[in-house]
Amino acid sequence: MTRFVESTITFPYRRSLGRMLAAFMGALTEKRILGVRDGQRVLVPPMEWDPATGDPLPLDLVEVGPVGTVQSFTWVPKPSVQHPLDRPFAFAFIVLDGASTPLLHAVDAGSPSKLKVGARVAPRWRGKRVGRIDDIVCFVPGESPEVDGKDEGPASEPVTMMDYKASTTYRNPVPAAADRAIAATRTGRLVAQKCPKCGSVYGGGRGYCVLDALELGPEHEIDLAKTGTITNFVVITPVQYPGQTETEPFARVFVLVDDSHVVFGYQPLLEMPAAEVRVGLRVRAVFAPAGDDTEETGAMGGHFGSLLGWAPNGEPDVQDPDLVNRIF
Ligand SMILES: [Zn+2]
Repeated sequence: MTRFVESTITFPYRRSLGRMLAAFMGALTEKRILGVRDGQRVLVPPMEWDPATGDPLPLDLVEVGPVGTVQSFTWVPKPSVQHPLDRPFAFAFIVLDGASTPLLHAVDAGSPSKLKVGARVAPRWRGKRVGRIDDIVCFVPGESPEVDGKDEGPASEPVTMMDYKASTTYRNPVPAAADRAIAATRTGRLVAQKCPKCGSVYGGGRGYCVLDALELGPEHEIDLAKTGTITNFVVITPVQYPGQTETEPFARVFVLVDDSHVVFGYQPLLEMPAAEVRVGLRVRAVFAPAGDDTEETGAMGGHFGSLLGWAPNGEPDVQDPDLVNRIF
């Protein structure tokens, strides 16, 4: 059975809200919902510009709701981790009392049969509100607003910015050959596969020859040398985004393994300051102590296992201008 690796990429970012949305988000922390007057209409959420003409709208805000009427809805039977509720719910267009346009939000109704077009719904406020649309946890059937947990009151500072995390999760299959390559690193070995037809050698457990479209199995495995030469590198100065654990500049290097054409990309450089890394530097593989498992595999490929990275082995640099052409 194929093993899969699940990866999640999260992009945190911060945006400024502008005068209109700042007022809207700030009011949410006070458990108030604001719209903006646009002629005879009241737009909720408020917009900076008239959607029909593009003309800027004055900051003429008016409080609406908080109770409203469901205009239409769709039922979400299996919420994902990114949905606002962890149980089946509805996304609904809700026309709040006093508003002319519907607000899109979640309704916690239990089952689709308990929700109808025309149903009255009220907000369930979050106890700790920060000035985001999810300060309203969801709407609930009825005329009575609720607070989820202890009400911690409005924001102490004016709301001008919003933090947000965009996130995507995906799954990659891991070839059996990659698992064997990972297992080999646990005994301090680097294995590759040699195509019986063209002789090409593949590191990292690719499992097939890209030239001959030939599947490669355990019988095609060979041991690689544990020394090599740096052909390319990048020095990364870490930006302190959430989740970044590095604080100092660090190097990722490409290593051409001795007696082969195998290049391992994006490898950690160990035991040397990043500023001293150079093309032609001779290095040796460094493995985690036995039993000290490291990252098993990632989306980048399956050849890491217990291979921690590469450290200088003390030999003189290789002087070969063609080295930089070896990336893969
Ligand atoms: Zn081949």
